[in-house]
Amino acid sequence: MSGLVSPHGGGELKPLLLSGEELRQEWEKAQTLERVMMTSRETSDLIMMGIGAFTPLDGFMGKDDWKGVCDSFTMANGIFWPIPITLSVSKEQANNIKEGQEVALVDTETGELMGSMTVQERYTIDKSHECKQIFKTDELEHPGVAKVMEQGDVNIAGSVKVFSESYYPEMFKDVYMRPAETRKIFEEKGWKTVAALQLRNPMHRSHEYLAKIAIEVCDGVLIHQLVGKLKPGDIPAEVRVRAIDTLVEHYFVKDTCIQAGYPMEMRYGGPREALLHATFRQNYGCSHLIVGRDHAGVGEYYGPFDAHHIFDEIPKDALETKPLKIDWTFYCNKCDGMASMKTCPHGKEDRMLLSGTKLRKMLSEGEEVPDHFSRAEVLEILREYYAGLEEKVEVKLHKYAEGEKK
Ligand SMILES: [Zn+2]
Repeated sequence: MSGLVSPHGGGELKPLLLSGEELRQEWEKAQTLERVMMTSRETSDLIMMGIGAFTPLDGFMGKDDWKGVCDSFTMANGIFWPIPITLSVSKEQANNIKEGQEVALVDTETGELMGSMTVQERYTIDKSHECKQIFKTDELEHPGVAKVMEQGDVNIAGSVKVFSESYYPEMFKDVYMRPAETRKIFEEKGWKTVAALQLRNPMHRSHEYLAKIAIEVCDGVLIHQLVGKLKPGDIPAEVRVRAIDTLVEHYFVKDTCIQAGYPMEMRYGGPREALLHATFRQNYGCSHLIVGRDHAGVGEYYGPFDAHHIFDEIPKDALETKPLKIDWTFYCNKCDGMASMKTCPHGKEDRMLLSGTKLRKMLSEGEEVPDHFSRAEVLEILREYYAGLEEKVEVKLHKYAEGEKK
């Protein structure tokens, strides 16, 4: 046995991606089926199912699962799950689809046929209820709420077959890993405890510090960054990938960390999303998820440590993957090093705190970045990226962005 945590749900990894002759036949058959157009969020969820990251799901959720997940973190089969994974269509299209019918699943942005689904159920939901349960708000300014509200009026559910994971560009092929692949690497290295560092921004010193705290207590770290869709103005994944490679090369002990990307789209669901991050990290073979301040948060919707507390509110056996709860981290002049709110007794004036948004603004306007915020090698890559932009991106300190205080 590998000694790694088991895939979620207690069984084996369940990748739904077809291959070989079966793929050819199902793909051929799907050409003639009714086409359901998926949003980028739905496509990214389908890919997560395809690669086994959403084990044990076998398709988009039905109403009982939806309700159980919203109200008690539990699917109809009793297995823990924190955020509904659903697919919607318009009322008109729902009328054309019968239960038991197979439909083709097509990504709206690329037009690519991504999979097929046998429709087992059609149902309507109270979107506002979902939002209040998952996001703790139904305000449309919340980007996760906005996406739920934009969904079609009818959800369709059923088991899926996945044809493709190629929605993500070629450039990610080195970092893009399926759960079976990260597990294999961990096993080869003899790692049993692995902490995942969730990342969607360039990796600065505070993230480096989080990763190193984890390395002190685990066998290794998976620097796991999102290559799914982000907000406009965010730094593209290929630039972030290069920055991480440089940082790892210069500042980490060899064989203590691995960089990988995963294709999910952010929901900005704060604490609930932290639980989802832990759930699919278990499938990747990670025993721990590093949960810092305002994990997956946005704006002022969540308390800075709500994502810590929620792990104490779920049943103890819900997940094998546990949170590594770490306070707000920064460089402190008086401490003369990296520290956290838990270890540094000094005041704001001694601490180097810079939001991701503020940093982007400084870089895009060519300003000097204060010492100790980021490593020089990383800044060089970011500066090069900003210098290459044809037009200066206008970075606004809007409501959402202010939430990214790290
Ligand atoms: Zn201090």
